[in-house]
Amino acid sequence: MNMTNSNIKQEFSQPYYVPVKNEKQIFTAAYNRGLSILLKGPTGCGKTRFVEAMANELGRPLITVSCHDDLTTADLVGRFLLKDGATEWVDGPLTRAVREGAICYLDEVVEARKDTTVVLHPLSDYRRQLPLERLGVTLNAAPGFCLVVSYNPGYQSVLKDLKDSTRQRMVAIEFDYPSPEVEEKIVAQEAGISSEQAKKLVRLGQAIRRLETGGLREVASTRVLIAAGQLVAEGLTFTDAATAAIAGPLTDDVQVSNGLLKMIEVYIGDKG
Ligand code: ADP
Repeated sequence: MNMTNSNIKQEFSQPYYVPVKNEKQIFTAAYNRGLSILLKGPTGCGKTRFVEAMANELGRPLITVSCHDDLTTADLVGRFLLKDGATEWVDGPLTRAVREGAICYLDEVVEARKDTTVVLHPLSDYRRQLPLERLGVTLNAAPGFCLVVSYNPGYQSVLKDLKDSTRQRMVAIEFDYPSPEVEEKIVAQEAGISSEQAKKLVRLGQAIRRLETGGLREVASTRVLIAAGQLVAEGLTFTDAATAAIAGPLTDDVQVSNGLLKMIEVYIGDKG
């Protein structure tokens, strides 16, 4: 594999995370007491980066699973696989985390199949146990194990909501987009642009967040502002960068898209 020095440095350096509120204190306290943690907030506001930073700070391995609607208990826990004519048990990511005392992060947990609660409940309360039905054993979570799940209340529907019995086994940390000053710092750092340039993008992001339109599924996240900043750093105009990285991903609706393009022109436009 062709690894440049800068790649290698990135892999081993600490995840860059700017605290927004008291999220580090809550996480650390919950972790110390073996409580499970629910990160609530819109997409692209820093939940994943936060878990990476906390795992690093607490010196625990991090095992992340992106949940989707086909994700079953077996995907989390493990299954028997055929190998050289014999069946062999292979641990899933959750089982590995339980054995290793890792932090297990289930991103967008509501997407997972409902039957996964059967294994998540005994793990996320005082028992800290994982039943491996197929093996007929129950594992006690190793010290250091911590279950962290994320959840976007904006996507909530009758069909996809976290059960109360699951929520009440967890300590919730609320996430939102950072204040403009903090977000400017993050966008400048992550995209490699000046704070003046980041300020323009954040001002646009703020304006989009204030819009009241049914046409946007989600507003502009820190993530899309960073992507626009990265395109600017590559030499694109602000207009082109914001059109490609912000307007395009946020909507397919022609009218809403035209509205966003106008906002881009007004807030950061640099087309002659
Ligand atoms: P989520 O998991 O909430 O969807 P991410 O953690 O992937 O969002 O955040 C998207 C990007 O925004 C991250 O890759 C990171 O670059 C940046 N980011 C957001 N919040 C912060 C923060 N507080 N400190 C540092 N970077 C952040």
